[in-house]
Amino acid sequence: MRYLGNKVGNGLALGKVYIINTKIPELKEKRLATLEELTKEKEELKEVLDSVVKDYEELEINAVSDDIKQLCNFYKILLNSKSLITSMEEVIDEEKCDKITAITKVMKRKAEELSLVDNAYLKERSKDIEDVTNKLIRKALGIKEVDLSILTEDTILVSEEIPPSVLLSNNIGHVKGIVSEIGGKTSHVAILASTLGIPSVFGIKEISKTLTDGELIYVNGNEGYIENNLTDTNIDVIKEKIKKEELLKASLVEMKDKPSLTKDNKNLEITANAGDLSELDKLLEVNSDGIGLFRTEFLFLNRSTAPEEDYLFNVYKTFAEKLNGKPLIIRTLDIGGDKKCPYIDIGEEQNPFLGYRAIRYCLDNKEFFKVSLRAILRASHYGNVMIMYPMISSLEEVYKANEILDEAKRELASKNIPFNKNIKVGIMIEVPSAAVISDILIDEVDFFSIGTNDLIQYTVAVDRLNPTVSNLYSFYNPGVIRLIKKTIDSVKDKKDKFVGMCGEMAADPLAIILLVGLGLHEFSVNASMILKVKKLISMIDSKEAKEITEHVLTLKTSKEVETYLDMEAKKIYGRYY
Ligand code: PEP
Ligand code: MG
Repeated sequence: MRYLGNKVGNGLALGKVYIINTKIPELKEKRLATLEELTKEKEELKEVLDSVVKDYEELEINAVSDDIKQLCNFYKILLNSKSLITSMEEVIDEEKCDKITAITKVMKRKAEELSLVDNAYLKERSKDIEDVTNKLIRKALGIKEVDLSILTEDTILVSEEIPPSVLLSNNIGHVKGIVSEIGGKTSHVAILASTLGIPSVFGIKEISKTLTDGELIYVNGNEGYIENNLTDTNIDVIKEKIKKEELLKASLVEMKDKPSLTKDNKNLEITANAGDLSELDKLLEVNSDGIGLFRTEFLFLNRSTAPEEDYLFNVYKTFAEKLNGKPLIIRTLDIGGDKKCPYIDIGEEQNPFLGYRAIRYCLDNKEFFKVSLRAILRASHYGNVMIMYPMISSLEEVYKANEILDEAKRELASKNIPFNKNIKVGIMIEVPSAAVISDILIDEVDFFSIGTNDLIQYTVAVDRLNPTVSNLYSFYNPGVIRLIKKTIDSVKDKKDKFVGMCGEMAADPLAIILLVGLGLHEFSVNASMILKVKKLISMIDSKEAKEITEHVLTLKTSKEVETYLDMEAKKIYGRYY
């Protein structure tokens, strides 16, 4: 049986289910009456903190990567800090409450404090505080931590929600895959799983209650599904697939210094999708051709006030300088939908994905929008920076956004602040109406980037976060393919203009053949996928891909398209597919 979820990536895995339950039971606040009780509670609190600090010390010593070492060190310092301990003791004394209540209150305050700091690494850590808090509570309650040292064979961790701390363990050698009910691609645990290269699928409803301990399952992190009840034939096919995936991985290092070319030497760009500073080193290391999508909203989330222009400018400038002339496409704020900020009042909405999102909010809040625009313009003086507007659905929106951009330019010019006066401006094609009028829109912009994550959800009317209807969400839907073709065709023969794709579809091995055939110029993918996409593209002949695409356009269903592309992929990618 196949269960669909959100693909977190990192490849394929086969292993036995190990269900972990890290949920904290419902707790009632205790009231303490006597001085002895309060003193005892504070002593126990200290023991809990010391013991968790010791755990992190051990994890730090045995950490498998520098990222993890740094994380453990951070938690250790945090829990050892005098001010933190004193604050917890004060809560016990003042509120005459138990240690768990004190831990919860003080750690919550700490998370809020961190979310306000103008430092990307610390801000990111505010999201982990809940995990550290739960670790303290489990320790206080005497609940044993998940013990991965007992594992002796290939294992798939399954849980309602995997706490990041589980992956900090030095015993993850037998963990081959991760499956959880909760957690997005950008969650911290997803990022850790990527660092460790563990195939993962998240967002499968009730899966920890559906599977049983010890049963064999297949995890396809690339496509976002798992399978159980495997037959011997299935198992053989899966083992073969895993072997090919490993072969492909081993061949990727050599791609780092090679240009992004098709088999017949057609030059394409393979750029990265990025969201914060922590991804910069990774994408530079794999020699990305630039950044095709900088999701600026991550700089706005998890804080209680909007970031200042200087803060945004400094982040963008750092990226622009480090990219050293390679393109940096900065998308203006894509807030709303599933991304909410406490200080941006979108109001209650029945359908947030169809509501007050992205450019719609920015056009109505001109001064707020101009802060971002000025920050991007200022950074354009330091590199090859371009601006991109998200969620465009009409020509009027492009006109309005450009008017506000002109105002921002005039403001900077009046203060003699340098910026690139000819900065390129593009739009995301992620609303079907924009794809349909792409021939009109292209005359007003320098480039398009096709956002298939949204374009597909709006075209087939399927909420991209709803696993119940995710079977209808397909890269191979002929309606979606026609919209992509229309968009790419609108840019053909337009001098100095280009079209890219920054949705997940750009990293799909079957879709890549189709996209090369349709004439896409730029593929913007997660940094961890860059070398793989480069390798796949290097095996595709663009003329052959064009012929394949012509046949795809005659097919009538998603299944027919997928089956046909799968057959062609086997021929093109050979032993790697
Ligand atoms: C998209 O919609 O394809 C896209 C890249 O934007 P996001 O996933 O940030 O909505
Ligand atoms: Mg989008």
